[in-house]
Amino acid sequence: MTTADWTRVTRLGALGHRGVRRRESTEMSMATATAGPEPGTGDRPAVRHLASGITLDPGQLVWQRERNSWSRQDLVDQIAQLYLDGHQDALPFWHRDGDPADGHRPVPGTGSLSRICARCGAPVSGGLTRDAIAKHESTGPNRRKPKPATLRAIVAALSEYGEPVRPGDLLPGAPERERSPEALEREARRERNRKLREFAKVVGRPELAWSPAGRARYTVELQRLYAEYEKHQAARAGTALAS
Ligand SMILES: [Zn+2]
Repeated sequence: MTTADWTRVTRLGALGHRGVRRRESTEMSMATATAGPEPGTGDRPAVRHLASGITLDPGQLVWQRERNSWSRQDLVDQIAQLYLDGHQDALPFWHRDGDPADGHRPVPGTGSLSRICARCGAPVSGGLTRDAIAKHESTGPNRRKPKPATLRAIVAALSEYGEPVRPGDLLPGAPERERSPEALEREARRERNRKLREFAKVVGRPELAWSPAGRARYTVELQRLYAEYEKHQAARAGTALAS
């Protein structure tokens, strides 16, 4: 890392909201460039490096989210709510294609409309996406470490609209907590629904998983076809094992 690089990062950091997207991509490339073991940083052991993000415990994040019975989308929506409420730890939002003529601030919608401005209908960027949350909660190769501002927003959203959380509750070393049977069941159901939708797409029968109005549904026919497919897969796996 050269001095010029650091100067660039510092200057980008000073751009504020409009510069965030560029700063993030710079930090991401820096994270790649500086990957590898980092020395500890004294009294802030969780902050490994400016560029590499904070190592949090994915299981703790899942647990804290589920404690409020929130889906990942719910967390996305609550993080947008911070912005709407003018919370100091809110993440920025902006109209993706540039500022509107009347200069209004974006009003991110909720659920499937969360990437659209509720006021003008134009696409919005910013906040935290469901996909990003999935990566923060992942223990696999897709795992992503949140930047400090992201962690602050997650903590603020949980604390403002759900059960209060401290940053330390999300870091490794926080006491392990068992997930409730309801939470596990909810997740299994969501995962199965996701597979059902995927299956309907793959077999070219999307109408089995979406109503004409575009709402997700899980028809008897879809459940039957998918059960058949699963049986078929299991039989194939059995054959493979036996041979
Ligand atoms: Zn708008």
